[in-house]
Amino acid sequence: MFELVFLGTAAAAPSAARGSPALLIARAPARFLVDCGEGTQRQLMRARLGFRGLGHVLLTHLHLDHVAGLAGLLATRQLFQLDDAIELVGSRETVAFARRYLSATIGTEREAGYRLRAVSPGLVLSRPGWRLSAVPVAHRATESLGYLFEEEARRALLPGRLDGLGVPEGPERAVLARGLPVVLADGRSVTPEMVQGPDVPGAKLAIIGDVEEVASLVEPVRRADALVIEATFLERDAALARSRGHLTAAAAARLACEAEIGELLLTHISGRYQAAEILAEASAVFPRVRVATDFDRVSVTAHFPPPPR
Ligand SMILES: [Zn+2]
Repeated sequence: MFELVFLGTAAAAPSAARGSPALLIARAPARFLVDCGEGTQRQLMRARLGFRGLGHVLLTHLHLDHVAGLAGLLATRQLFQLDDAIELVGSRETVAFARRYLSATIGTEREAGYRLRAVSPGLVLSRPGWRLSAVPVAHRATESLGYLFEEEARRALLPGRLDGLGVPEGPERAVLARGLPVVLADGRSVTPEMVQGPDVPGAKLAIIGDVEEVASLVEPVRRADALVIEATFLERDAALARSRGHLTAAAAARLACEAEIGELLLTHISGRYQAAEILAEASAVFPRVRVATDFDRVSVTAHFPPPPR
């Protein structure tokens, strides 16, 4: 399960109600920030999330509304002497920009206690039971990335079978849970197959930042349990959306339909519209949609059965 906290849901400029783009993703004990718009450190405080345990900031692209909060956040961490390392991840172009911007404001990587890591589309990191990867995203000729969080399907142990076979509570059950056989005290062998239930699917979460076309995203985000994506414009301003390199709410919803998404979460909301208008346009195409508001919390769990083994 992934927990999301929307910290900033505005497009381009913040408003009284919406902060600049930032989204916290937690899969205990790991915490990630996706983008870090101006004022994100205060949004973290207002959400009572604090700064601890934040291991990575994943940057979608280098536009100022998505990165301007980095220097302040890192400076405050220094002031509070939080010296657990924080890694800033993005494309080569984004990381090169962050390097110039941060070294001119708070100091270089070595002085200021952050690390920059340029990644290409593909695997970013792998943890037991889940992985994070990056996908290319088209937005105004930037080197933009989207991020996919994917849990592996797992087979849970059936307590009735464990009890029936006399497998004691403790290390033997942990070994079986890791998919390995055990030999019990009385000499009998128990294999994982003897005590496993059916596959339990893992959750898939797709986060796409600013984007101007969706055809290339259908396969990468396919069957995600949740898709977070921008919806900066409405169809009546489709020409403006195209010229600014953004999506309309209907275009985001068409992607959700085509890619068989579980739930569509729209963000990057322009001050020119009411959220209700965006919701109405998207839900006419794809009903399982909501328009995010700052401080919304959403749990993402698996909706879909796993692929056949
Ligand atoms: Zn933006």
